[in-house]
Amino acid sequence: MNIVLFGPPGSGKGTQADNMEKIFNLYKISTGDLLREEIKNNTEIGIKIKEIIDRGLLASDSIVNNLIKKTLSNQQKNNVKKGLIFDGYPRNLAQAKNLNEILGKNKISCVFNLKVERDIIVKRILGRQMCSNCGLIFNEFFNPATSRNHNCDSSFLKKRSDDNEKTIIDRYETYLDKTLPILDFYKEQKLLYEINGKDEIEEIFKQIRVIISSLQA
Ligand code: AMP
Repeated sequence: MNIVLFGPPGSGKGTQADNMEKIFNLYKISTGDLLREEIKNNTEIGIKIKEIIDRGLLASDSIVNNLIKKTLSNQQKNNVKKGLIFDGYPRNLAQAKNLNEILGKNKISCVFNLKVERDIIVKRILGRQMCSNCGLIFNEFFNPATSRNHNCDSSFLKKRSDDNEKTIIDRYETYLDKTLPILDFYKEQKLLYEINGKDEIEEIFKQIRVIISSLQA
C-alpha cells in the first residue's frame, strides 16, 4: 500500500504520516526531512538548497527525485514495511509523473488531501516544534510536547528556520502555484480523498484509518 499525503504547508501531513507509519507499518518518506538532513550534514546538496528553502521556494526536481531514489533503494534492501507514505512529495506535476514511474506496478493506493485555510496554517506553523532527536512534531499552542507524548529532553525541541511569517506566506504561494494543480491529476485517477484538516489530530487520523481499512478489505 502506497499513500500520498497532500496539503498546504502546516496542514498536518507530517503528524499524520508519523501516526500512519506506526499503525499501518508503513515507511515514511518526507522530502522536507531528507532535504533538512542534507542541510544539517552540510553536504553539497545541503549548501545549495538552504537558501531556496528559506525563501519558500521548491528545491529542484533532480535533487529531490535523486534523494527519493536513493532512499527507496536503501529501504528496499531491508524491506520489512508494508508500503510507503509520501509526505511533501510530489510537489509539482513533474514529480507526480516521476512518482508513478518510480513505483511502476506498485501503484499509489490513495491520496489524502488535508484541507486547511491559510489563516489557520500561519498560526499552526508559527507554533510548530520538531524534536531533533526523535523527529516527532509538536505545536506550542495546539499540541505541546509533554511527558506523556514525548520521551526526549525538551532541549531537543527546535523551530524550523523556514517557519517564520514571511517564509510561510511565500511557501503558501508556492503551494498554490506549483503544488495545488496536482490535485486534478489524482482526481482523474480516482485516487483522491478529501479530509478536513482543521479537525483535531485524532479525528483526522480516525477518518484516514477508516479509508485505509476499507481499501485493505
Ligand atoms: P516540508 O518539510 O514538506 O514543509 O518542506 C520544507 C521545504 O523543503 C519546502 O518548503 C521546500 O522548499 C522543500 N521541499 C520539500 N519537499 C519538496 C519537494 N518534493 N520538491 C521540492 N522542494 C521540496
